[in-house]
Amino acid sequence: MGIVVQKFGGTSVANSQLILSAARKAIRAHQDGQQVVMVVSAMGKNTDHLIELAHEINENPPTREMDMLLSTGEQVSVALMAMAVDSLGYKAVSLTGGQIGIRTDSSHTKARIKSISTERVKKLLDEGNIVIAAGFQGIDENFDITTLGRGGSDTTAVALAAVLDAESCEIYTDVDGVYTTDPRILPEARIARQVSYDEMLELASLGAGVMHSRSIEFGKKFDVPIHVRSSLADVPGSLIVNEPEVSGAVVSGAAMTKDEARITLRGINNAPATILRIFEPIANRKISVDMIVQSTPGKGGTPLSFTVPRNELAMTLKTIRPVVEELGGEIGECSDQVSKVSVVGLGMAEQYGVAERMFRALAQAGINMQMISTSEIKISVLVDRNESLRALRTVHDEFGLHQVPDNAVTDPFSSLANRRSRVAPVEVIRRLQGVDMEGLTIDDVLLDDQQSRITFTNLPCQPGIALKIFAAFSANQIFVDMIVQNTEEENCAGLSITIPREQFVDALRVAKEAVADMAGTDVVGKEKIAKLVVSGIGLRSHTGMAIAMFRALADQGINLEMISTSEVRVNVVIDGSQGQTGLQALRDAFSSTLR
Ligand code: ASP
Ligand code: MG
Repeated sequence: MGIVVQKFGGTSVANSQLILSAARKAIRAHQDGQQVVMVVSAMGKNTDHLIELAHEINENPPTREMDMLLSTGEQVSVALMAMAVDSLGYKAVSLTGGQIGIRTDSSHTKARIKSISTERVKKLLDEGNIVIAAGFQGIDENFDITTLGRGGSDTTAVALAAVLDAESCEIYTDVDGVYTTDPRILPEARIARQVSYDEMLELASLGAGVMHSRSIEFGKKFDVPIHVRSSLADVPGSLIVNEPEVSGAVVSGAAMTKDEARITLRGINNAPATILRIFEPIANRKISVDMIVQSTPGKGGTPLSFTVPRNELAMTLKTIRPVVEELGGEIGECSDQVSKVSVVGLGMAEQYGVAERMFRALAQAGINMQMISTSEIKISVLVDRNESLRALRTVHDEFGLHQVPDNAVTDPFSSLANRRSRVAPVEVIRRLQGVDMEGLTIDDVLLDDQQSRITFTNLPCQPGIALKIFAAFSANQIFVDMIVQNTEEENCAGLSITIPREQFVDALRVAKEAVADMAGTDVVGKEKIAKLVVSGIGLRSHTGMAIAMFRALADQGINLEMISTSEVRVNVVIDGSQGQTGLQALRDAFSSTLR
């Protein structure tokens, strides 16, 4: 008999009618012969109310007490849910995180799961009960109650599905599934029937996700299919899996993060430890740096730009000012009126010309890109805040996301039926025996030393410039891999790209021709570069990861020529002669987390 985990979010249990209807869903699955574990969030806005209440009493409530308070929200829901199931004539037992044995670390209000016991839940299931687990909570080694961070019930659900080796994890929510972009922003967004974990991770961090990012990390790590569906309407929803069956679509989603701030540093000498010295103090303040864009030295040193959440701009500037001065540089133009627009798609890794298409659409709409950063499955651009909605709509349309793809599989859920063939349970269980379920996992450290770099400096900062360059590359069948563009000074940009080494000569010629009529623009090429890639799970939520990578390379005296980051990988470009040294340094640095 298979196990299914059904998670009900706050809006799906907001009143007694809804609780009863959730109970009926679980009972239906039980009648179908499945063992059912329900994971339940606090009713409606209960968690928000508890937080407000705490702040009325204490502006800065102790986090331990906050967890004691917030965990009561879920405790109310599970008890009521068990009563609901009982009233419908079935057996149910509710359990708190502590009663299940969800062990976490002690970081109150943002704890991470270390391990989960399964004995009690399995026993109760075998006795014919529907088990109702409180989401969002656990206990630390002192038996103190912890919570997993806002929205954390998703994470409880997927983690439980993983340890119980469940057939799937159903997430019942107030939306119909995962959309191509936030439908509250673009009404023409449509449901994506199947999405990969990687795409979801990118999208979730871009603000489009309906789910807690860490739950997707669990899904990916333990190969749990996640089925996001509406608790209100009986519609199919979306399936999050490793490899979606829907193929052909290059881009599967688009997203916008509206409130970003851009910081540009100038005149910084690009020496091995520079990057580390700038980002470490920021990370120590738990400020999350998003796009990091460094192109290669122009006339005024190496311009380095990055983005942080808009409300952290002042704190970030204060934090880095002393370091920047020590490094002999200055804080250049900063703006808190920028937004990031991204497209995500597994198909991008194989197709070329995707960036060009995006740049063309934006250029035709007259939208300037202040920064560009790409990874294998994502392209992000920074645009003026006033133009963000238009930019989002432009790219969403360009990639046909408002239309249902004609090659969409007819039944995206058929794969659920035979999912047991995917991973040998032994393998799953072996992985779960690790003490730290939610620890950072590095999948791979790779070296690509078959690429070259081309760098443009002093590009005019206006719509259509990047397009001109990329159109020339694709007309000449030059395959561009990494793209990194930033703003150097008020009115000029620097752009670095990488291309296959065998195309170096051609690409350099094409690049020079493309900018021949742009006064002051320079093009330089470097034939021998090495690209190092660290890929894994939890790169973003474990903020220290990029720092650890920068440190390992700095310790070997290795200079970073380009950087691009995403949820699932960090790419850096270094000198071609240092590839092996860099690879070894990273392997050593991550040896304990490599899986
Ligand atoms: N009740 C918690 C919250 O509101 C956890 C959850 O709903 O996932 O954040
Ligand atoms: Mg939620």
